[in-house]
Amino acid sequence: MKSRKIRVSPQERVKRSAEVTRRLHKLYPEADCALEHDSALKLLVATILSAQCTDERVNMVTPALFARYPTARELAAANPSDVEAIIRSTGFFRNKAKNLIGAARVICDRFNGEVPATMDDLLQLPGVARKTANVILGTWFKKNEGVVVDTHIGRLSHRLGLTWRSRDDKDAVKIEQDLMVVLPRDEWTFVGHALIWHGRKVCAARKPACDQCTLSNICPSAFSFDGKPAARVGASQGRKPASKRIAGTSRAARAKPKPARARTSGKASGKRAPR
Ligand code: SF4
Repeated sequence: MKSRKIRVSPQERVKRSAEVTRRLHKLYPEADCALEHDSALKLLVATILSAQCTDERVNMVTPALFARYPTARELAAANPSDVEAIIRSTGFFRNKAKNLIGAARVICDRFNGEVPATMDDLLQLPGVARKTANVILGTWFKKNEGVVVDTHIGRLSHRLGLTWRSRDDKDAVKIEQDLMVVLPRDEWTFVGHALIWHGRKVCAARKPACDQCTLSNICPSAFSFDGKPAARVGASQGRKPASKRIAGTSRAARAKPKPARARTSGKASGKRAPR
């Protein structure tokens, strides 16, 4: 299912984003980062490793890495080939090892061995761009400086019509700017986590389970095979369900059974979340 820009009015977008946020809180009240960590350094390392890799794979690799290099000073002094051997299965292991050791050195040299807690300082670390910095700031330091935009959040932002200035669902910079406009600041981190969970559990890239999605009656892409808006839908709960309005619009839609509106909950599978 190819994502496509959804055009809606600003008022409708704000209403929809508020309703999406409300429902995500009900669906995933404990949405959090799937990368295992108990310190800012471990979250930073895991996030760097998660590029083009599943969280599940990263979580298999990090215990050995953290056991061997428990502090930034030890990681900064590591032999690159030793780090590469441990993280090899996460892919791009040479570059990741270089960034991990480089980041640890900067942390030791400029930040007294502690992961910095500001966007400007984090962006000085090798291998850290805005997305990784947002993960560290939002998840560990509880600072909403921006919205993490990974592959799931990019895709769902497009499908749900929460972005209007981005070229496509890969345009992370514009998507983040749009989400920062339509979402209340104190929801930035939560909505990021919850959209990742929803993307993994329900709104998959190739085959979204719209018939099991509790957002379907406010989602402009619901029951749309190629991502085209199937019908203009409002945020009002009282409106006729989108599934019924959509049912008469195309042969493919008519062939679909009525949505069961099954609700999903619980921890995400952790299958994929490149940051
Ligand atoms: S209704 Fe379908 S396209 Fe929209 S968020 Fe739910 S699963 Fe994704």
